Amino acid sequence: MVENLQNHGIVTSDEVAKAMEAVDRGVFVTDRSSAYVDSPMSIGYNVTISAPHMHAMCLQLLEKHLKPGMRVLDVGSGTGYLTACFAVMVGTEGRAIGVEHIPELVASSVKNIEASAASPFLKEGSLAVHVGDGRQGWAEFAPYDAIHVGAAAPEIPEALIDQLKPGGRLVIPVGNIFQDLQVVDKNSDGSVSIKDETSVRYVPLTSREAQLRGD
Ligand code: SAH
Repeated sequence: MVENLQNHGIVTSDEVAKAMEAVDRGVFVTDRSSAYVDSPMSIGYNVTISAPHMHAMCLQLLEKHLKPGMRVLDVGSGTGYLTACFAVMVGTEGRAIGVEHIPELVASSVKNIEASAASPFLKEGSLAVHVGDGRQGWAEFAPYDAIHVGAAAPEIPEALIDQLKPGGRLVIPVGNIFQDLQVVDKNSDGSVSIKDETSVRYVPLTSREAQLRGD
């Protein structure tokens, strides 16, 4: 899978390739036989695990902000796959925090991570997954060098910009039916520069009730 993503020019750095090779996507999904196919898969609760090329693209966009010792927040952490990749990249001196609003998904993501190469980071505390509304970010460990949002927001939540370090980067899908993957860089004076990377299709960043109703 990783070799394929490299051949297609989606994975371009050694760090991202190593993280994706270390964290076996097969332990994060129930249907292991489809784990390495490049498409999203249902994980229940009206949501999906993103396709490998989307995970890879986001890791690449954030790569310079995922150096050892850095702090990263993963909003809508779902299966925990990307949170695990982040933890491997930032290492024991860094912090990888997942926030997910479905408690059952948080519980299963912890089991998935325990079965993966990121297990030591969970044990030793540099990796944690919390139940919460990710639109509020996770203030406890702010500011973050990198923030990833795995669900599409109607607009960029203010709390996430507040919790970004100057020099830090937020990658977030924005929009309703038509969505753009936006890359938000915080400048040293606290202002932000935003660019559209590509058109995407994610499930919405919404309330738990609206998601479970299937709005
Ligand atoms: N990146 C994850 C999941 C992607 S699906 C993966 O690839 O496995 C998006 C996730 O965002 C879902 O798990 C959904 O439950 C969660 N989500 C949606 N709105 C949220 C919110 N307001 N706060 C926290 N999580 C949210």
